[in-house]
Amino acid sequence: MSFSSLGLSAELLRAVADQGYTEPTPVQSRAIPVVLAGRDLMAAAQTGTGKTAGFTLPLLQRLLKNPLEAGRRKPVRALVLTPTRELAAQVADSVQTYGKYLPFTTAVIFGGVNINPQIDKLRRGVDIVVATPGRLLDHVQQKTIDLSKVEVLVLDEGDRMLDMGFIRDIRRILALLPQRRQNLLFSATFSEDIRKLAAGLLKNPETIDVAPRNSTVDLISQRVYQVDKGHKRELLSHLIGAGNWQQVLVFTRTKHGANRLSEQLQRDGIQSTAIHGNKTQGARTRALADFKQNRVRVLVATDIAARGLDIDQLPHVVNYELPHVPEDYVHRIGRTGRAGSSGEAVSLVCGEERGLLKDIERLLRQDLPRATAEGFKPNPNARPEQAEKSNHGAHAPRHAHKPQPGWHSRPGSRSRGPRFAASRSGNR
Ligand code: AMP
Repeated sequence: MSFSSLGLSAELLRAVADQGYTEPTPVQSRAIPVVLAGRDLMAAAQTGTGKTAGFTLPLLQRLLKNPLEAGRRKPVRALVLTPTRELAAQVADSVQTYGKYLPFTTAVIFGGVNINPQIDKLRRGVDIVVATPGRLLDHVQQKTIDLSKVEVLVLDEGDRMLDMGFIRDIRRILALLPQRRQNLLFSATFSEDIRKLAAGLLKNPETIDVAPRNSTVDLISQRVYQVDKGHKRELLSHLIGAGNWQQVLVFTRTKHGANRLSEQLQRDGIQSTAIHGNKTQGARTRALADFKQNRVRVLVATDIAARGLDIDQLPHVVNYELPHVPEDYVHRIGRTGRAGSSGEAVSLVCGEERGLLKDIERLLRQDLPRATAEGFKPNPNARPEQAEKSNHGAHAPRHAHKPQPGWHSRPGSRSRGPRFAASRSGNR
């Protein structure tokens, strides 16, 4: 199938060609005709499937089809809600990219930055608003936005919006929209809660599920290292160095954990930065840019911060700690092996995470292959709190090996040998 057979305008086809896309992805070929026909849509599609173009292209075309009467003040005609600032920025970029030959204006609205430039932009009139719910409601309260003329609503990453507790904000926003409108709901999973939201939101929707949950997962080589909690960081440094990994996204469960790990890696001579919700928008954008442009080798992220990050062909994802929600494992490792390229996902699993690993394997309906690294075998007798203690490193027995050539092969990085602890278990 080609893009030209989908009924998109010449301007949109040109923008698509500029991007170098030759064929629509499955979500695009299914979603675009539905949206063009004006139907409501419920689509199960993860990041990496091309879903953004799947709704942005036909949305732009819809706006083109119903031109406004001349002389009327520009109202907001399309509203895209996203759970995170990063995703809002990325969707707005896509709207600009695909709409570059069309006359529409877009505003991206999220918190953590000065509201005044957003107000100025809205005052001048915009066709499309891409927003996170909280800041959008701030504008509603300040009467700096009018949503009463919205023709198309898109909820992107609906499952994550619910996970993040946005349901009340979403309901408040829905109440401000006109009754007659087109609704598009994208979600990585069709959970019970998402179905409930969809039931109240969508009218006679077309449902598409082009990304059965595990299809991405099949492309990714996955490995589990069983390791004592207190030795995870050393193992991570070892894997990065020994494998000469140059771009690694590492997931931790907490913001504090992300900061701490990033600092420890820096001390090991591995350029690293952390991204999470406590960082300012500027700091997050900088961290992401540094990572994308290979100025830092490791990006340590929490689930929420990493959600929706568009990083092409990321070769390595590491679960430094397993997520509590098994679906998050799929979201996390979906950051690698995208668009058909193969990727590698490694999980460092300590004794107390065994139950979480079981849940993930149940969801995937497969056992993940176990791997071992010499010197990092878990101590079968270690109690969780013992492992925890050595996490802080002070008393962990370390037996430094001689530095290996090429261990940290980046120029300028401190060269340090892997600190194997072959007799670690015996020392306890
Ligand atoms: P998304 O799932 O929307 O986050 O898109 C994932 C990535 O796929 C983005 O980097 C897009 O630029 C890219 N992409 C979207 N549509 C296509 C296409 N038809 N062919 C190739 N790449 C695409």
